[in-house]
Amino acid sequence: MTDKILSLRPNRPSLMRHLGSYIRRARSNSSELALLVIQFKRGQELGALFGYRSIEALMEQLANRLAFACREQDRIMRIGDHEYAVILPEIMNQGHSILAANKILRELTTPFELDKHVVSMGANIGLAVYPGHADEPDALLQHAELALSDAIRSGAPYLMYKDDTQENLTGAWDLESELDTALDNGELEIFYQPKINLRGGLLAGAEALLRWRSPKRGIVPPNIFIPVATRTGQIKELTWAAINMALQHAADWPTRFGPLTLAINIAPSLLEDETLVRRVGDAMSLWSAKPSRLILEITEAAMMDNTDISFETVRELKNRGVMVSIDDFGTGYSSLANFKNIPASELKIDKSFVMNMLTSKADANIVRAIIGLAQSFELQVAAEGVESMEILRALAALQCNYAQGYYISQPIPAATFVQFINEYVPPVF
Ligand code: C2E
Ligand code: MG
Ligand code: MG
Repeated sequence: MTDKILSLRPNRPSLMRHLGSYIRRARSNSSELALLVIQFKRGQELGALFGYRSIEALMEQLANRLAFACREQDRIMRIGDHEYAVILPEIMNQGHSILAANKILRELTTPFELDKHVVSMGANIGLAVYPGHADEPDALLQHAELALSDAIRSGAPYLMYKDDTQENLTGAWDLESELDTALDNGELEIFYQPKINLRGGLLAGAEALLRWRSPKRGIVPPNIFIPVATRTGQIKELTWAAINMALQHAADWPTRFGPLTLAINIAPSLLEDETLVRRVGDAMSLWSAKPSRLILEITEAAMMDNTDISFETVRELKNRGVMVSIDDFGTGYSSLANFKNIPASELKIDKSFVMNMLTSKADANIVRAIIGLAQSFELQVAAEGVESMEILRALAALQCNYAQGYYISQPIPAATFVQFINEYVPPVF
């Protein structure tokens, strides 16, 4: 281990002590220092697939890569399961720390070896600088972590902390009141994305995806307004509206098109709402929907976060004959031990693995592992993010049951979806 690496075990108190002494030194010689917080992508899934020991070995390889990218005086410390902090003392300016972040990211593009498998590890980095952003260790770390979470949310490889909290708050507040109006004025709309059966290619059903047709902002995707609605509690109104709209649209599908399934996303916080099961039941009776044709999609992270209550709600839904699909599967999961009790009917492989399964061996392994897991637990398995015929073929060869993705169709408005069904010709694969 080089002098640059101070700790290979997560140790925040030690980071705070070191940061404190580096800040004192910077204060006394009037220099600047930067703190980088680096979070590796997909640590959790790799952990689930390869086990704790292999991940620890991988984290050690990562520390060595960081050390390779860093200068003699820089210091590297592990601060979380998949997180490192790097202190860069005596930087010339903020740009200097961005150069360092770029160098680190470049260093990570060479794949790693994990249990004889080759895995590639992306990362996001948050940066904050003393004295520009904070002059105490706590605040500096907090700001670097804020920048990191913004980077993760926006998909940016790295972000420098920006003091725009006030701006963010007002932005979110506007969105909140606009969303209220949107609900009242019927600006929310459901788009449908077809899902096909990989045995034969026939249409299996569709996933209902919310869109907000805002007069001021145009079509707003759910990634923008669902987090706001979740924070403000508006998510409940929004979900009840989505369930009713989708079931209303789908009410005449059985007579017109035969037995198609309708999948609706349920936000994590709804699993703790004791009216969910009743409301779903009421909406199904109102629109004469068959429970076995309704799929509720719940993210894996939501299932794992709050095991008791979530499992109970999901179990009740299943008792009523409703199907449950674990969405974004592969991204949220902490242990296989929990998995055996999941009351699900389907696993839906996250698009991040599917999209890259032909170019990344690690992603291909994950897709294969999830399909195997589903088969051994007698669950259906669906893949989202199918963007090419080659991926469709690969999934069919692996005996994945269903596919959904831009190659088949983007999410489309209800009327266009009806047209899509009428003109649908199964792909030959
Ligand atoms: P999700 O449930 O995992 O939905 C799949 C997302 O992947 C959709 O994004 C879809 O447009 C996108 N997608 C599908 N195929 C492809 C592909 O081949 N390539 C790429 N690059 N993307 C593809 P969308 O519609 O923006 O929805 C994003 C997320 O918002 C959804 O992820 C879901 O978590 C949430 N969401 C959407 N509608 C609702 C809703 O009614 N209620 C709740 N609670 N969440 C919703
Ligand atoms: Mg979904
Ligand atoms: Mg998904």
